[in-house]
Amino acid sequence: MKITFLGKYGGYPGKESATSAFLLESAEFHLLVDCGSGVLSKVQSYVDLQDLDACILSHYHHDHIADVGCLQYAMLVENKLGKRIEPFPIYGHKRDSKFDELTHDVYTEGREISVDQSITIGPFNISFCETTHPVYCLAMKIQANRKTILYTADTEWKDDLIPFAKNADILISEASIYKDQFGIVKGHLTGEEAGKLAKQAGVKQLFLTHLPHYGDQEKLVEEAKDVYSGPVQLVYPGLEIDVK
Ligand SMILES: [Zn+2]
Repeated sequence: MKITFLGKYGGYPGKESATSAFLLESAEFHLLVDCGSGVLSKVQSYVDLQDLDACILSHYHHDHIADVGCLQYAMLVENKLGKRIEPFPIYGHKRDSKFDELTHDVYTEGREISVDQSITIGPFNISFCETTHPVYCLAMKIQANRKTILYTADTEWKDDLIPFAKNADILISEASIYKDQFGIVKGHLTGEEAGKLAKQAGVKQLFLTHLPHYGDQEKLVEEAKDVYSGPVQLVYPGLEIDVK
């Protein structure tokens, strides 16, 4: 299983960058995880759009879905060019009417994800945990080839994430805020809390994403390392991880 990070920012993309998202590859299947601003452009550096197999969305905040409309137009063009016959699947939860917009004519098809059921998308088995965020949002446990990636999506601290993330090989955690903003900014984790989750869940490696545009992002790594002794790093566009 290979992870390619496409963007690292929360809220909006930085200059020539993208919001937090990544591409997963296994057995020649390509799954795009979240699709915010800048992501559609970035992903084409790593896969031809005609080889992209599916997209999954954690929630419907703009920084996770801004490029979905353009992705749908891309699939329309691919269809018209005869490069794609089946509708492109876009997975998302149904707790919001935004789900209905995931289907665009015959070009894309919305498919439901829910906490009640794990699903199989290509080689990936994925299960979900509701996070604590201003809108309904799902963390994802993604498994393939006996390896586990845990993606927190957007959340503030929630104890349920500890058993959900237990012993994951890779924890991709949001770290939207610095420790001194704890209690001021709701719905997100500090670097320290990401580290605490990594430690308490016993994960092997921690990657921080959904980063702030201000301050020294390396401080988030330091905060995490204060509580977690495993490897910690910030993600950046183009960072590739082979999960073996
Ligand atoms: Zn959000």
